[in-house]
Amino acid sequence: MVTGYHATLKTRDDKPFVAELNSKIVFSPDGEPQYIEGIFRDVTTRLEAEEKVRVSELFYRSLFENTGAATVLFDNDGLIERCNSKFEELAGLPREQIVGKLRWTDFVDKDELQRMWNYHQQRLRAGSTPPKDYDFTFLSHDGSKRFVHVTVDRVEELESRTASLVDITNRKQVEEELATLNARLETIVEERTQALATKAVELEKANARLMELDEIKSSLVSSVSHELRTPLTALLGFAKLINKNFLKYFSPLAASDPELRNRAEVMLSNFVVIDREGRRLVRLLNDLLDLSRIESGEIRWHDEPTAISQILQDAVDAAIGEFYENSDVELLVDAPEDSLIVNVDKDKLQQVLLNLLNNAAKYTRRGEVALTASRRGPWIEVRVKDTGVGIPENQLSEIFEIFHTHRRNDTLSGNPGTGLGLAICRQIVEHYGGTIEVFSTPGQGSEFVFTLLAMEDD
Ligand code: ADP
Repeated sequence: MVTGYHATLKTRDDKPFVAELNSKIVFSPDGEPQYIEGIFRDVTTRLEAEEKVRVSELFYRSLFENTGAATVLFDNDGLIERCNSKFEELAGLPREQIVGKLRWTDFVDKDELQRMWNYHQQRLRAGSTPPKDYDFTFLSHDGSKRFVHVTVDRVEELESRTASLVDITNRKQVEEELATLNARLETIVEERTQALATKAVELEKANARLMELDEIKSSLVSSVSHELRTPLTALLGFAKLINKNFLKYFSPLAASDPELRNRAEVMLSNFVVIDREGRRLVRLLNDLLDLSRIESGEIRWHDEPTAISQILQDAVDAAIGEFYENSDVELLVDAPEDSLIVNVDKDKLQQVLLNLLNNAAKYTRRGEVALTASRRGPWIEVRVKDTGVGIPENQLSEIFEIFHTHRRNDTLSGNPGTGLGLAICRQIVEHYGGTIEVFSTPGQGSEFVFTLLAMEDD
């Protein structure tokens, strides 16, 4: 007898098909073989269906194994029916020791067992909707714990559940570290903000106090200068008168006596000192008054359109005396055409130029002092350049400050300044929106450059 024998046959119209053959020998009553009885059945469709199932099974098995998630199938009692290699890895056990032997609850940390059990019960009850996704602590066979994210679903026909678990321990750790860092950062920001706010309040207080002190200083400077100037002018006047009378009436009397003559000469040279220092004090007081008036906005500005060439010429006329004293220094002027007009207070501008020219004369032994003005875009640049002693680099940024007189001993004319001239220059130039700068090479000379806005002739 032959059963289940497969053979590929052909139909009458030449189409192949798979036939399953069952055949047996039929015997006569006396035991002689009579004939062979056979049944052919066309099993092509059945075989095709079986092949499809096999391929599909392969496909789903491969999916199950390679989803990347640890996956298990378990029954209503929680008994694990199937698991993939990822789950073996997570559990720390081979599947032979898991499938059919352990329940999923064996892999849940005991602190979370109740919660997970509740979900399981809910899944068994119709109508309730337990969460499908949640995190829990997975307990490996060796007792180590991992944080996992699980997705549970029901397979209706099989009365089974599938659970896919993704190990999120590292992510959780990073999240926790991030949260700690964030919290720390927030504390730091909070502390810094607090500190800044306190500092801001302190600064505001200090600023208010400084402004108060500045006001006190300005009014003090202004009233003291004013109060000192009047008696000082009187003192200077009387000193001059005494000097004159001494020369006229007393000097001749002393001419015959060498002792008296000597004393008279000393007294006359003392008068020179009184006069020089007195005049210096008057200059200082005038400069102080000017500065405090400009700073406090008390000063009046009589602005009018004026040719810059005119301002330059007036300044040269006023300063020329200083240059007569030293024939080794030449004063050169390169005035621009008359069409360059500025809207300024002539006297104030004169003051700027005189300060710069007098300084140039004071600090230049030989060579030249050049005064020039030229147009540069909307600005007029005025330059006072000398071939004098120059200014050390570390003092360049300070000389515009009040009372900066580092180089007082360098003055060549022996006429010490007040240390306020350049501060006044800067105040005046900045009042007109310009800037003043200095360039210098010690031993070669200095150049002061200031700018003024040109008036457009439209
Ligand atoms: P001062 O009355 O002392 O001249 P200024 O404010 O006019 O005061 O100048 C400040 C300082 O700048 C001077 O003491 C001097 O050291 C320096 N200075 C100004 N102009 C010149 C210059 N042309 N050459 C060298 N040094 C200068």
